Amino acid sequence: MTEITREKLIIIGSGPAAWTAAIYASRAQLDPFVIEGSFHRTMVPGGQLMFTTEVENYPGFPDGVTGQAMMEDFKKQALRFGTRSVMEDVERVDFSGPPHRLWTSGGAELEADAVIIATGANARWLEVPGEERLAQSGGGVSACAVCDGALPAFRDQVIAIVGGGDSAIEDATYMTKFASEVVVIHRRDELRASKIMQERAFENPKIRFLWNTVVTEVIGDEVIEKLKLENRETGETSELEVGGMFVAIGHTPNTGFLRGQVDLEPSGYIHLPSSWRTATSAPGVYAAGDCMDDYYRQAVTAAGTGCMAALEAERWLSHG
Ligand code: NAP
Repeated sequence: MTEITREKLIIIGSGPAAWTAAIYASRAQLDPFVIEGSFHRTMVPGGQLMFTTEVENYPGFPDGVTGQAMMEDFKKQALRFGTRSVMEDVERVDFSGPPHRLWTSGGAELEADAVIIATGANARWLEVPGEERLAQSGGGVSACAVCDGALPAFRDQVIAIVGGGDSAIEDATYMTKFASEVVVIHRRDELRASKIMQERAFENPKIRFLWNTVVTEVIGDEVIEKLKLENRETGETSELEVGGMFVAIGHTPNTGFLRGQVDLEPSGYIHLPSSWRTATSAPGVYAAGDCMDDYYRQAVTAAGTGCMAALEAERWLSHG
């Protein structure tokens, strides 16, 4: 029979939300146990910041910091106050408690009085040749214009934005501050983005649209040089010289293992019944960071909600 370990507080995830929750919880002597996740092709312990190069918009780092260094320091700070952690995935949960029950990829079965879910979201990628290699090497391919767009490498370049939703149009508008030209590449002939954002983009002389067009390959050795394109209507192929590509085709929250255990939005994000609270539909279960936030998706907002979740869990554990 598997031995069941009982924990006061389990935190699932290892991005800025999870480690911030762990820092607050360990300093409040809740003895948190962090289940960090394991290594996958599109996600690793540390979360999306592990795929970012330079982080320049997190306050407190006037000279910038790499996403990896930042996550290592977040973790170090949590461990300093006694946080324990393991690099495994949570495969299944039963939130009918408390105690709540969790099963990990390492074969462990755990019980917890409170749980904080901070499993993040994955940016969707085009999955075309060249994309992943140049995204991982910092070669000018990114899924976050707000994070990477202001880097010197993108100044005065032709920048491609792929997608037709609010994110793509917001990213396109944002990139006009730095780029010589922004080319929005969309697979249909009309945008999904809100009308007001569309109008602003159509009026912006720096933004050009390529309709009914898909990217079939990203070309470049060290850095991106051009894109291979295909017109979906005519089948015509072409090339576009670019100095950067931002993919803005949506995100997928890492919440599949929660189905039936906490209420989710139709989009898969965790539903939070009260605004400005991180409590989920399950008693004693809280959610922080990108798994519940399809709007801001920033390291600093994730960290903020991690703090909120830890404070709410602390109150729950002391009064519950
Ligand atoms: P989204 O609304 O789902 O749009 C994704 C876009 O990517 C769509 O235009 C879609 O094309 C395209 N796409 C999807 N898969 C693709 C693929 N494999 N290849 C090429 N194109 C692909 O996602 P989002 O723009 O990230 O927005 C998510 C949510 O956040 C929305 O509710 C949005 O309103 C909100 N948001 C709001 C703001 C704001 O108000 N300021 C800013 C950002 C996001 P199709 O159109 O053909 O499906």
